[in-house]
Amino acid sequence: MRQKMLSEELKGKYGVKVYKLSLSSGCTCPNRDGTIMYGGCTFCSEGGSGESAAPFVPLREQIEFARKKVEAKLPKAGQDKRLYIAYFQSFTNTYGDPERLYEMFREAAMLPEIAAVSIGTRPDCLEAPVMEMLCRLQEIKPVWVELGLQTMHDRTAERVHRGYCLETFENAYKRLKEAGMEVVVHVIMGLPGESRCDMLDTIRYLSSLRPVPDGIKIAQLQILRGTALGVEYQKDPFPVMTLEEYCELIRDCLAILPEEVVIHRLTGDGPKNLLIEPAWSADKKRVLNTMRRYLTQPAFSSSGTEHREVHS
Ligand code: SF4
Repeated sequence: MRQKMLSEELKGKYGVKVYKLSLSSGCTCPNRDGTIMYGGCTFCSEGGSGESAAPFVPLREQIEFARKKVEAKLPKAGQDKRLYIAYFQSFTNTYGDPERLYEMFREAAMLPEIAAVSIGTRPDCLEAPVMEMLCRLQEIKPVWVELGLQTMHDRTAERVHRGYCLETFENAYKRLKEAGMEVVVHVIMGLPGESRCDMLDTIRYLSSLRPVPDGIKIAQLQILRGTALGVEYQKDPFPVMTLEEYCELIRDCLAILPEEVVIHRLTGDGPKNLLIEPAWSADKKRVLNTMRRYLTQPAFSSSGTEHREVHS
């Protein structure tokens, strides 16, 4: 693949491995609380797509909690030299009082071990006071804004109750880039009613934006228990990609995406206990190994052995 994975990009930039701390800002989402609609995007789980985030307690406690979780998987040596991204992941992290949010984000940004603050949000929650707050934050540390586009197709967006149209995304994207923010776009492959061609159109669309997105997160659609999509699927199942089809699709996405787009993720790993389909996504090791093989061989062969990270 021509693009860099996020871990590689960060290692090059900071000289050390950089880890993510999943944090909570205490925000809800206008797509769930009735401001736009009730219920949210049909694929969104109870935890607002951020089940692994620290509980909403004072920020220093969240950072400690998240850090311990990361450290538990790593060797003790070099602990004091590690850098982190403060990642506000669940729900819509700019949907709240900008001053309260600024104080929280600033507290994270001021810590020497925090390399950047990453904020997951919706493009319709970036009004002028929020943009001004993000610009102030950017004076302390780099700010990444993660926008959940999922698809460029408004008909699919309506079907999954995303609650905004492509024009809203494009508008927000332009304003963020004009303000010098790094923008990471989230897309989902396999949304109901979308063909392979529709999914690749979303990738082509993102590749045509100028400037191009700084980063992209691609995930397979995960149909979870307790979501509207889960109910829809159980009543009337729609086609779900096999792991091999998904890996092939990702290979085609990467062939389209410009080289300078940093790849933050190529697979999603949602809560296993809620997973209905695709069943293969519960086996992370198999997913990563298969993906590696697809990405390191021009034509798939099961003998591929080169190891490269496929998500950070
Ligand atoms: S915008 Fe995000 S948090 Fe809100 S309903 Fe959709 S996926 Fe869930």
